[in-house]
Amino acid sequence: SADSNLIRATLFPGDGIGPEIADSVKQVFRAAEVPIEWEEHYVGQEVDPRTQSFLTWESLESVRKNKVGLKGPMATPIGKGHRSLNLTLRKELNLYANVRPCYSLPGYKTRYDDVDLITIRENTEGEYSGLEHQVVRGVVESLKIITRQASLRVAEYAFHYAKAHGRDRVSAIHKANIMQKTDGLFLKCCREVAEKYPDIKYEEVVIDNCCMMLVKNPALFDVLVMPNLYGDIISDLCAGLIGGLGLTPSCNIGEGGIALAEAVHGSAPDIAGKNLANPTALLLSSVTMLRHLELHDKADRIQDAILNTISEGKYRTADLGGSSSTTDFTKAIINHL
Ligand code: NAD
Repeated sequence: SADSNLIRATLFPGDGIGPEIADSVKQVFRAAEVPIEWEEHYVGQEVDPRTQSFLTWESLESVRKNKVGLKGPMATPIGKGHRSLNLTLRKELNLYANVRPCYSLPGYKTRYDDVDLITIRENTEGEYSGLEHQVVRGVVESLKIITRQASLRVAEYAFHYAKAHGRDRVSAIHKANIMQKTDGLFLKCCREVAEKYPDIKYEEVVIDNCCMMLVKNPALFDVLVMPNLYGDIISDLCAGLIGGLGLTPSCNIGEGGIALAEAVHGSAPDIAGKNLANPTALLLSSVTMLRHLELHDKADRIQDAILNTISEGKYRTADLGGSSSTTDFTKAIINHL
């Protein structure tokens, strides 16, 4: 079909439970009449020399062209001579920010019921620059790279996000008292950007104190922006506050306005093909994609249907203590639309 009113988006169903939960997204989108046409891409059976990975060049081109996509979990292929799939995507598409919304799901009880925060992780440098070596025997060194360009870029995105989503505070998370040069530069960049957004409150919180505050009272935070390693750790901590990785969505933001949403969990080979997987994380990731496209009506409708289904408690998958299949849970969501 070549309906010009449709937005084309790339879909990587991925491996293991990926195709089952991607199917759930496709069904829900169809029922909610979301104006999206999927361009489906699968991970190849062999290494594509153009990408040095199991992802084909055509798959990457599809995301570059559509600028928006949804990614299911991808199993890490075994064997040498290729780059990891996630690394390939991150480098080739320059996915510089990872955005993870964490909010309490009504009706799904955890220690807190008022979590509503967004972590924004710098995704290209810091401790994850891959620059580690041995200096002499018994001494190794790892380089933490912080650049003005990447720090400004992620800070800009954080403030832009806060403004676009009606949030009123951005907290930069750091350890600049010890890492004076690197985290110091990161903070300096955040401050510069903050000045352009006088309506949004800006604060700086030392990472150790941030961890303590998050577990004591997560409602203290709104939008958090931070360098790579801190973001990796804090974003999982936040996922834990609301019930774990099975429920948390994420979205990767890349150069030139690319948004690639993805579930945080893996391919769950233990339950793959058994109609048992919980599609919530991928569905909520697809909601972040809709918000990126500013299709807020559709996003609200789908998000409410998911949350109402879980909160009603009649249909839940096994990981949430229920006995519903993926397909029955999906049908229940569609009935709530
Ligand atoms: P996993 O997340 O796949 O599974 C961990 C546990 O959580 C399993 O018991 C699984 O059944 C359960 N689980 C995960 N998602 C679920 C869902 N939606 N519904 C119900 N239960 C769910 O982690 P793993 O076993 O360490 O990894 C399996 C494969 O996935 C590996 O090849 C790994 O490299 C890959 N992986 C990919 C990504 C990604 O693509 N972003 C992330 C993590 C792991």
